[in-house]
Amino acid sequence: MRERFGGGVVIDPCLDCGLSTAFGSGRFVNRIPADREDYETGEYRDGFLCAMCAGYECDKCGGQIYVDTETRAEDARGFVSVFHAECLGVVS
Ligand SMILES: [Zn+2]
Ligand SMILES: [Zn+2]
Repeated sequence: MRERFGGGVVIDPCLDCGLSTAFGSGRFVNRIPADREDYETGEYRDGFLCAMCAGYECDKCGGQIYVDTETRAEDARGFVSVFHAECLGVVS
């Protein structure tokens, strides 16, 4: 699923999911400046990550967590995992 603006050019696409992070796209807020190098082509790309892709991956369901909304839990060995608040059963 891709969002298109006008003639099919995606403005400020997220480097991960390719969705626009431009103002008005709904992902402008909390977008994170990022860069990426394509190891196959050697192409360097300067851009943004949307708040979803910039966040952590949930250790329970494996889904992406919206940036800065993760819940951290430490197990008995001191290993820290991150979860969606819902996945941990934390009601906020
Ligand atoms: Zn993204
Ligand atoms: Zn989860």
